[in-house]
Amino acid sequence: MTVTPPLELAVRDGSPIAVVRELAGTMLRNAYGTSAPPTGARARTDLRAHDAVASTLVQLEALVAAGLEIGRRDVLAALDRAGVRGEPAGAPGRVAVLDLARARTRRFDVVFVLGLEQGSLPRRPRVEPFLDEGTRRALDELRHARLVRPDAASRDRYLFGAVCPRPRQRLVLVRQAVGDEGSPRDASPFWDAVRELFDGDDVRRYTRRQPLSALTWELEAAPTERERLRAVATLAAQAPDEAAALARENGWDRRLERALRAFARPTRITHGRALRLLARDSFSVSELERMASCSAAWFVERYLRPSTIDKQIDRMLRGSILHAALQRFYVKLPSAVPGADRVTEANVEAAVHLMRECVVDAVETGLRIEAGDLDRRELEQGLQRDLEQLVRDEAASASPLVPRHLEVSFRAFELAPGVAVNGKIDRVDGAPMGAHGIVIDYKSGAASSAAEIRDRDLLQLPLYMLVLRRQLGLEPLGGVYVPVGGGRRPRGMLRAGADEVPGFSRRDYLEPAAFDEAVEAARRTAAVLVERIRSGDVRHDPQGGECPHWCDLWRICRKDRP
Ligand code: SF4
Repeated sequence: MTVTPPLELAVRDGSPIAVVRELAGTMLRNAYGTSAPPTGARARTDLRAHDAVASTLVQLEALVAAGLEIGRRDVLAALDRAGVRGEPAGAPGRVAVLDLARARTRRFDVVFVLGLEQGSLPRRPRVEPFLDEGTRRALDELRHARLVRPDAASRDRYLFGAVCPRPRQRLVLVRQAVGDEGSPRDASPFWDAVRELFDGDDVRRYTRRQPLSALTWELEAAPTERERLRAVATLAAQAPDEAAALARENGWDRRLERALRAFARPTRITHGRALRLLARDSFSVSELERMASCSAAWFVERYLRPSTIDKQIDRMLRGSILHAALQRFYVKLPSAVPGADRVTEANVEAAVHLMRECVVDAVETGLRIEAGDLDRRELEQGLQRDLEQLVRDEAASASPLVPRHLEVSFRAFELAPGVAVNGKIDRVDGAPMGAHGIVIDYKSGAASSAAEIRDRDLLQLPLYMLVLRRQLGLEPLGGVYVPVGGGRRPRGMLRAGADEVPGFSRRDYLEPAAFDEAVEAARRTAAVLVERIRSGDVRHDPQGGECPHWCDLWRICRKDRP
């Protein structure tokens, strides 16, 4: 058999249909030879392409036979439009796109459930134009007409529950966080229900976000003007000049400009009325500390102050009940355990008993919201456990000091000209008749060391020490955070020297000069923070440059998340 080289074939005069047929045959022969039948996935695809070419050519020949003139361009156009059958459904690597009802009876390696947005799943109930639900029900009762439709939400819940266990390896739930225009979309209740089944850290670790820009078409392939505009806006993020030129050419300048303004997320407070709200005389120490940790977080938590509609037992409520229980305990200790001015090994069991009573009282009076019995018991038992541990730790403490002042409030305490703070010190310990004292601050999380107090601009202990000196007339020997729960040790900053208070981590003792400097540094930092608040200087400036993984304020502060 004589084989004509492909290039000669392509340029040969004659019927283009015959040329293409021969060319297609040559390509298939050259790819797989003639000694064995083509097998394998790739060969099957090529054979299907060859079939598609052959059947297109047969149709073109029919047109020629009918008297039409078919040129090279016509053949090329027909081949361009010819479709090639894909792999049959069920072939490896294929994806089955099914609705929930059809997917619920089959098994798959991986299942993606799409559309977990409010209003999509469960679907909104259909509004019937002629007969409302009540009339249908009445007709059903009277005439057994079976007009009432099954509840769509219950059916969708059943279908969703039936599909979730279908995958052998992995279930992926997908929802749109924003619509095509970038406006937020709420999650389906099914989405929230699944998330609640897992640990919050796991949910965060396995949740992947895809920005809207990742779903934009390539400019050349964008099928509509709207998609082309979105493609240009995406291009503007990487190649602004090129995007601007394209927009100019197509008359999209103003629309691109508008889209680009959406990238700017100004955080500074500039409105006069808003700034007037910030021109306060006095600021709480804890809010200055929040400002130091991230000014955007301060803005959301202390200025906007969003809160949930349904009150629940949260960290704040637990903390206030815990403080109330501790306050009662130290007030009652001297009378409940006669002669006791602090907890010791000798009176620890009586002190634990007293603490239990104080927790019961504090929960009774402090829990002012509707809470279920289970939540209430969980709160009470958690506090009992943590505070009993605190009492036992105090009994074993080497510090010789005793509680002397509880819940010391201070207002408009002047740190510098025009800079005043307010707050409340949980407890001040001192020698019964001495002129020295240390500040005690209860913490529900981990306590911070002297180095962390300096590095993270923690203000409470150093500023409270200034209050100790000026308002209570006690010379501060230090301050410690006492963690409640979790078995962690008290940490803080203490003055080293002959009169130092023993019993704390050696690394938290500072030489007198360093100790005084730490207190002064806190005073200076507070003054700078007050000035920043008054001038509305809000930024995305988390300490250390990275947003902590647990900060979920990004939805409000509008910080870009990777
Ligand atoms: S997400 Fe980041 S920038 Fe926003 S408040 Fe939290 S830490 Fe600050």
